[in-house]
Amino acid sequence: MTKRVLLASSRGTCAGVDRAIETVENALARWGPPVYVRHQIVHNTHVIAALEARGAIFVEDVAEVPEGARVIFSAHGVSPVVRTAASSRRLEVVDATCPLVSKVHKEAVRFAGDGRTVLLIGHAGHEEIVGIMGEAPESIRLVESTGDAASVEVPDPGRVVWLCQTTLAIDEAMEIVGVLRDRFPALADPPSDDICFATQNRQNAIKSVAPRCDVVLVVGSPNSSNSRRLVEVAAAAGAGAAHLVDGAGELDPAWLDGAETVGVTSGASVPEVLVTHLLDRLAGLGFDQVETQQGVAEPQRFSLPLPLRAG
Ligand code: SF4
Repeated sequence: MTKRVLLASSRGTCAGVDRAIETVENALARWGPPVYVRHQIVHNTHVIAALEARGAIFVEDVAEVPEGARVIFSAHGVSPVVRTAASSRRLEVVDATCPLVSKVHKEAVRFAGDGRTVLLIGHAGHEEIVGIMGEAPESIRLVESTGDAASVEVPDPGRVVWLCQTTLAIDEAMEIVGVLRDRFPALADPPSDDICFATQNRQNAIKSVAPRCDVVLVVGSPNSSNSRRLVEVAAAAGAGAAHLVDGAGELDPAWLDGAETVGVTSGASVPEVLVTHLLDRLAGLGFDQVETQQGVAEPQRFSLPLPLRAG
């Protein structure tokens, strides 16, 4: 039996995550530790541990940051309430919010300002959703499922627009939009897709690999929305089974019993070295032939936040 690995491309870190991690690294290099960061800069336990070891201090509330100190906002964005709290503590903010998340914030503000109700498709409690909802809480309704879409109430069904968390499963989001459109024929679309290019590329890649796989392994942390969506997309696309692993150590060899083909991918917050470790572990279990799928180029780069650009 030939045991092989199909390695999905695109996978791993995206432009927004690279920028966020570089923001903390550059801040540490320029200003020295400690550097305070509100929330995990990206949702990956290994990245967080490595930055903590270099002097980053992650907090959930800006009240934990000493008055007048510098604080970095994570890639997921923040609600205006957090900005106000930071300003009242005279904190110097370095904003590492992914520009694609900021775009959804701006759209929410604009549509709410036009008197529309925003139907925001996403997961309750996710940092990105908390931040966007905070822009106009009275005008935004969270829609998590087709069930929510079927029951959500709005003041004026003729003035509704949908927006979406950047890291959702595309097919699921479109199904929810379909239910909303049946109920609200006047539903307006966002100017462009909110689900970001990196999410789309990673989902498309695993969707094409999964049907040939007995097992798919997605490298990613449990709180990484886009990584968890990759597990769901792989299972829905026909993988025999799909598992999320935070690192190679979480691979249970029993998952591979009887398997010939293992698919591997990683979420947008996952450094490639973690995939390399998983491939090494798989090779040790006999899966030493690796075929890498042809990937989609991602030339996108986002410049660092302003305070770190000059000099
Ligand atoms: Fe930005 Fe998309 Fe990456 Fe999230 S997954 S940080 S929205 S590029």
